[in-house]
Amino acid sequence: MRWQTIAKEAPPAGPRVWDYAEVRDAFSWEQARAGLDGLPDGRGLNIAHEAVDRHAAGPKADAVALRCVDGAGVTDITYGQLRESTNRFASVLGGLSVGRGERVFSLLGRGPELYTAALGTLKNTNVFSPLFSAFGPDPVGERLRLGNGRVLVTTPELYTRKVAPIRESLPELRHVLLVGTVGEGTRIPGGIELDSALAEADPGFEIPPTDPEDMALLHFTSGTTGKPKGAVHVHEAVVAHHATASFALDLHDDDVFWCTADPGWVTGTSYGIIAPLTRGTTLVVDTGEFDARRWYRILQEQRVSVWYTAPTAVRMLMRRGADLARDHDLSALRFIASVGEPLNPEAVVWGQEVLGLPIHDNWWQTETGAIMISNYATMDIRPGSMGRPVPGVVAGLLERGKDGRALVTNGRVTESSTPGEMGELALRPGWPSMFRGYLHDDVRYAKMFAGGWYLTGDLARCDADGYYWFVGRADDIIKSAGHLIGPFEVESALMEHPAVAEAGVIGRPDPVAGEIVKAFVSLRREQTPSEELRRELLAFGRRRLGGVAPKEIAFEADLPHTRSGKVMRRLLKAREMGLPEGDVSTLETAQ
Ligand code: AMP
Repeated sequence: MRWQTIAKEAPPAGPRVWDYAEVRDAFSWEQARAGLDGLPDGRGLNIAHEAVDRHAAGPKADAVALRCVDGAGVTDITYGQLRESTNRFASVLGGLSVGRGERVFSLLGRGPELYTAALGTLKNTNVFSPLFSAFGPDPVGERLRLGNGRVLVTTPELYTRKVAPIRESLPELRHVLLVGTVGEGTRIPGGIELDSALAEADPGFEIPPTDPEDMALLHFTSGTTGKPKGAVHVHEAVVAHHATASFALDLHDDDVFWCTADPGWVTGTSYGIIAPLTRGTTLVVDTGEFDARRWYRILQEQRVSVWYTAPTAVRMLMRRGADLARDHDLSALRFIASVGEPLNPEAVVWGQEVLGLPIHDNWWQTETGAIMISNYATMDIRPGSMGRPVPGVVAGLLERGKDGRALVTNGRVTESSTPGEMGELALRPGWPSMFRGYLHDDVRYAKMFAGGWYLTGDLARCDADGYYWFVGRADDIIKSAGHLIGPFEVESALMEHPAVAEAGVIGRPDPVAGEIVKAFVSLRREQTPSEELRRELLAFGRRRLGGVAPKEIAFEADLPHTRSGKVMRRLLKAREMGLPEGDVSTLETAQ
């Protein structure tokens, strides 16, 4: 391995020190469940009670739950205040007779109302489905229809631009709760001004009995490869959110935590709302979009101690250079994690050198509901590896295309295979936050399981010590002259060149080799594309990668990303081949 292991020389003192093997072997989900309260009088398990009410009823009542940062300043909301606002929201839904299991969608920017809506919906045993506010009318309509949206929480302005044009196609949408004032002459069928409804609502809401298996959240997958699917999650998921907040993010109730993902994506709900609140931390909510300088300012001024972000954001910060980071006081930071895409080894080491902390990669999906594989605060990091399964999760690698023979089970290579063999990453069902279905699509759900495993659609390798290494989405794998090439490996190697900010790699059909590796490259700020640089990068690739190096390189000012930060290789390929672009509703520039 060319990258040195980052050894944790001095693990933080106190309860944070834990031994991976020991904890994993002793762990059970029943025990993890005991760390939560459950509804009073054995009335079940409700996410909102665990995230809000149990803290509001105790010594944390006056502690800050949400710290909303926007252009105008900072607004703090305590656990006690959050209990009241979410109670009122639940009362509003109750007053509208929104029934158990019915879907409440949000189409809102990040602000206090979004968090109130999410948690108030759960209190009323309705299902919360957050939509990213930058979606255009088509993706909004498609999701509302697929999810049978009964209630939508949005602003009059967003409604007019994105919902009014498609309202007629949404006969099931009955109520529109509006954040802000509706202008004179604007008619919104079923529209209710939320502020006044909340002011009149009962602040003393009692959460009805909630079965842990009741549907709680509906998340649409980001659709890098196809049409959106609605993954169903239940209240029981909170057991995994709570446990992984501790294992994978090292969260404690004295932390100031910032998850940069929007709640429109699963990360922004599981870890941008639920998990940190169940731990009693202060959650920073930034209402703005990415801006390197502002982000560093937030880390500095809010004294963020645990930061959960995405590889694209890290790469953008790297692109801005180390000086900007060093102009800021980041001394409160003690743990950084990243998810959503492969984290290049270079980025892990950049964190160590420039931010003073390595970046801990972790892996999961919309369907898994919570972090499944992770690098831990007390475990050495092998840069480029996703880490090891969280306690309670059994991960394996299955041979593809055969009968699903296991190459690896739970980090141990089976007798018939060798460490480092590539296989499909699979998980043994049974963890609490596993999705319980794709809404209205049982056939598709059933296809996700085989031989007692949940199939993730990702390819990975496992080394002799049980660290998992991401290779790529099975759909993205390139087959060139008999080699199977994972785009991530090629992208990471190119990113080691000082001129390269980001790379996206695809297989371009070729009559001789089957496919040839083509890389799309965006450059760091101070660099300009040239024929000379292109040749240099091709040679650099050959030196690093040999036979699997890219044969073609094209420069792009920016690569296409999903709004959740993933490079859309599928789109690069479609454009390269002049094919239809397919579903681009999650594309970053789509409005
Ligand atoms: P989504 O369901 O939209 O959150 O996407 C899940 C997919 O993102 C996974 O199946 C992976 O392909 C990718 N992904 C998430 N985390 C990582 C990671 N740490 N390393 C590599 N790929 C990741």
